[in-house]
Amino acid sequence: MERNSSCSAGIPELAANMRIGVHNMEKKNIDWSNLGFAYLDTDKRYVSNYKNGAWDDGVMTEDATVTISECAGVLQYAQTCFEGMKAYTTEDGRTVVFRPDLNARRMEDTAKRLEMPVFPQERFIEAVVETVKANEAYVPPYGSGASLYIRPYMFGSSAVIGVKPAEEYQFRVFTTPVGPYFKGGVKPLTLCVSDYDRAAPRGTGHIKAGLNYAMSLYPIVTAHENGFDENMYLDAATRTKVEETGGANFLFVTKDNKVVTPKSDSILPSITRRSLVTVASEYLGMEVEEREVLFEEVADFAECGLCGTAAVISPVGKIVDHGKEICFPSGMSEMGPVTKKLYDTLTGIQLGRIEDKFGWLYEIK
Ligand SMILES: *Cc1c(COP(=O)(O)O)cnc(C)c1O
Repeated sequence: MERNSSCSAGIPELAANMRIGVHNMEKKNIDWSNLGFAYLDTDKRYVSNYKNGAWDDGVMTEDATVTISECAGVLQYAQTCFEGMKAYTTEDGRTVVFRPDLNARRMEDTAKRLEMPVFPQERFIEAVVETVKANEAYVPPYGSGASLYIRPYMFGSSAVIGVKPAEEYQFRVFTTPVGPYFKGGVKPLTLCVSDYDRAAPRGTGHIKAGLNYAMSLYPIVTAHENGFDENMYLDAATRTKVEETGGANFLFVTKDNKVVTPKSDSILPSITRRSLVTVASEYLGMEVEEREVLFEEVADFAECGLCGTAAVISPVGKIVDHGKEICFPSGMSEMGPVTKKLYDTLTGIQLGRIEDKFGWLYEIK
């Protein structure tokens, strides 16, 4: 009898549940379309420790807390770095992660620059895949506009008081579901040209170090107080060339439909920007230039967007340089036509609606 009552769902509802759960897994009861971008703890996370010169085997754990020495390298001298990417549910019900191999490689570059041990690239991808699999109930369903944000990170965990690299490290991966970026419609951003510098020539601007974000907080809080959405940083040496914002690369479109993106050794190589460049040339047949971009020429572009995992591309409507305004023809209410085409194509690939010609999607099986 008891068995019977737990089966009281009835046949139609059971059948519906089976169709939703591709791997016989039921999604969490979350209002996906109304999620924002905030940390929501999920069931499992991956942890591996580095000690005596080697990484251990790594485990999945339910423990969302970290216990380390009060004198840990990360706490005293900010020896920490991170990555970010997303998992999606495709139109045909697969769970996929977008280009985790590039995140693995980028974290290796970052680790080397910060005197941290490299977490091997194949193990990085495995850890990401396993963490997504363990939290598959949190991968938002197709059509919700939401996705599962994946955050791999690493930090010096052993005590360091003299300035030197830590001897022990922890590598972790957690996931958190995040809502549609353009909830309530697209709103082009207003940027200001910052009086601060994000990165120095020969500095650490090209790696994903926590320290690059710590020092960007004052300029972004100040920009917000002044009514701007983001900072446009110029090159620190000459302050004549466009670099990027605090967390996204620039992509411009010329009046004759060329895609232009700034090239600089102090820009963080965005995976979204690199993918959009390939989309422009290989899917849309557009001409693309990766080159130095003078701030002077920005007023001549037809469209401007910010590229990053969070939004794919956010359109920029206006850039303000100490009271002087640059207003893009695409305006303050919609994406420019080329930006829209790039956005639709890349999100189409990510959601399995457009052919994945280059094997960018890693399927979770
Ligand atoms: C992470 C990041 C980006 C965006 O990179 P994606 O790989 O596209 O998410 C851009 N700029 C900075 C400074 C970043 O840290």
